[in-house]
Amino acid sequence: MTELALRTEGVGKQYRKSWALRDCTLALPAGGVIALVGPNGAGKTTLLRLAVGLLAPTTGMVEVLGHDVTASTPHTLSRVGFLAQDHPLYKRFTVAEMLRFGRACNLRFDKDLAERRLAKLGIPLDRRTGTLSGGQQAQVALALALAKRPDLLVLDEPVASLDPLARHEFLQTLMGAVAEGDVTVLFSSHVVHELERVCDHLIVLNNGRVTLAGDIDTLLAEHRLLMGPRTSA
Ligand code: ATP
Repeated sequence: MTELALRTEGVGKQYRKSWALRDCTLALPAGGVIALVGPNGAGKTTLLRLAVGLLAPTTGMVEVLGHDVTASTPHTLSRVGFLAQDHPLYKRFTVAEMLRFGRACNLRFDKDLAERRLAKLGIPLDRRTGTLSGGQQAQVALALALAKRPDLLVLDEPVASLDPLARHEFLQTLMGAVAEGDVTVLFSSHVVHELERVCDHLIVLNNGRVTLAGDIDTLLAEHRLLMGPRTSA
């Protein structure tokens, strides 16, 4: 049986009196790239934080990699990586210091792998991270996250602040990592037009509810069917 990267059953999250997420039921297979899209306030961050165990659901159940997140052991949670919005880095550290820090904090951390990735992108290891461009900082944050060798990597709006070229390069790196390893990527975005090329599965959230979910080819085929065949001018 295919392992599921993420399974939710009737998940809801209430902050004080308002519901950020309601009745969310999903089953997404491991492997490939899953994109979570929706407008501001749709509930994307809430769903991602529930998926990595940073928030507890008000209702329902969240399973990642076959384990209930709320009852998960540190071992299971160490298989799940999370990159928060704006790629937090210690800006006064050099890239090399960030890598040494990563290794000191986590024995699974593959420093050589991160160095190889960054060298391929031409990112100098002796530069303070705060002096790098936004696109380079995003790549460093991604290399650090991937060096922990997670089975599931969750990224909250990783390309929101990047220009089109940096966004393209970041997505290329993500797809490359998925192609060469066993990592499943789940990321949120409100930039929809590039997703057809990038993702294998799509979740659309609107006003706290899942309005569409499934594999991208099926969704696109259904969408084109609904839209009807294109007529030539
Ligand atoms: P954005 O793209 O703007 O980051 P989002 O799709 O990630 O939005 P969430 O951040 O999950 O959406 O927020 C969903 C709803 O929950 C919003 O109405 C938001 O104001 C509300 N919300 C989020 N976090 C909290 C909180 N800690 N306390 C109260 N309300 C919150």
